[in-house]
Amino acid sequence: NLTQRLAKVVKTMRGEARLTESNTAEMLREVRLALLEADVALPAVREFIAKVKEKAMGEEVIGSLTPGQALVGVVQRELAAIMGADLGPEATQINLATQPPAVILMAGLQGAGKTTTVGKLAKYLKEQKKKKVLTVSADVYRPAAIQQLQTVASQVGADFFPSSASDKPVDIALAALDHARRHYHDVLIVDTAGRLGIDEAMMQEIAGLHAALKPIETLFVVDAMLGQDAINTAKAFNDALPLTGVVLTKLDGDARGGAALSVRHVTGKPVKFAGVAEKLDGLEPFDPNRMANRILGMGDILALVEEAKKGVDVAAAKDLAEKIKGGGKFDLNDFKAQLSQMKKMGGLSGLMDKLPAQFQQAAGNADMDQAERQVRRMEGIINSMTPQERARPELIKASRKRRIAAGAGVQVQEVNRMLSQFEQMQSMMKKLKGGGMMKMMRSMKG
Ligand code: GDP
Ligand code: MG
Repeated sequence: NLTQRLAKVVKTMRGEARLTESNTAEMLREVRLALLEADVALPAVREFIAKVKEKAMGEEVIGSLTPGQALVGVVQRELAAIMGADLGPEATQINLATQPPAVILMAGLQGAGKTTTVGKLAKYLKEQKKKKVLTVSADVYRPAAIQQLQTVASQVGADFFPSSASDKPVDIALAALDHARRHYHDVLIVDTAGRLGIDEAMMQEIAGLHAALKPIETLFVVDAMLGQDAINTAKAFNDALPLTGVVLTKLDGDARGGAALSVRHVTGKPVKFAGVAEKLDGLEPFDPNRMANRILGMGDILALVEEAKKGVDVAAAKDLAEKIKGGGKFDLNDFKAQLSQMKKMGGLSGLMDKLPAQFQQAAGNADMDQAERQVRRMEGIINSMTPQERARPELIKASRKRRIAAGAGVQVQEVNRMLSQFEQMQSMMKKLKGGGMMKMMRSMKG
């Protein structure tokens, strides 16, 4: 994965103050491969890499960052920007600002998740926005489709306008609109028929629905698992309809989310929601930053890059890096400084918030609390040492250990454990020559 790929490059790129053509070339190649691996379509990859290159050249490498880490920061920022981070909150909100009923038209291939998303959206609008919602199906080709929407609507307590498979989609939709007006619905969501592939008749039908309904929102629903194909589908729908937004479904699957980038590349329309479960509460506002991290698969590195940028003891970390580079020894004072730096960074649980969702789930909150308590105990133990002991930990033999343990109110084993963790860290530092925060985090979680 990309984290592994980049870790290698990041290590080979240290001690340079600026990002240049030569110190970023290899890294950019890896980013390119990672995007292709995440199923981003080639034209979107090309455009993205060109943009990153333009932004990165000459950028200063701050504080304790290596050029590699700095470049990762640029990549993440640009990716998030392309995902919509720069569009502002209004752009990604559902727009209902019109004379009610606000009509929402759903478009997309068969199986994309339109009907399910109608249910999710109805639930969201009912519960979060206190709207009275009517749903209708204009999918007259599969008898089961109308029934499916009825079931979904009743599950979320939204109103359902019955349609007959023998009617024309436009007639059904207009009858529903009339009903919604007369019954003071705030929102009418119109589900439509998809096809397995792009099909001229389907495009004409949905364009006709759009012309008749004049929806305020025309949402393109697309399956994140489509990968590379998402680009062609998005193009066809974007050409046929004035889309206002995108819903990316099935992000709970193992898709890396490259489709998101492809779809943004072709349509330029904001992704408004993410489908994250089959269940009807599985709809989330789209989070550009999280998506960027998911595509890159490297939330952990990024969190640390961000923290370093906030200036959290960047100077101290740099001093340490220089001390070690200059052949200095990593001692318990340094260890303690790193512990307190970790605490400043919002502690382990604060850091955890920044990791990708998969990691968060795997780690769980209980463990984090425990890890934080452990960090505090370790600090307590170091506090009970003399300055001499901190600078020369090899002095700490049995009797000193007993004294330190008593002072810190812990068992001697705990002092031993802390010292062995310190030794691990120390040997890691030798290998890393500084900047070993991330590695330390990992070893402490275990
Ligand atoms: P439509 O043909 O576009 O109306 O698609 P459907 O709404 O019928 O969905 C097709 C399949 O995808 C169904 O089995 C849904 O349960 C499933 N589905 C839709 N959205 C999601 C999602 O966000 N996550 C998961 N896991 N499944 C989804
Ligand atoms: Mg359907």
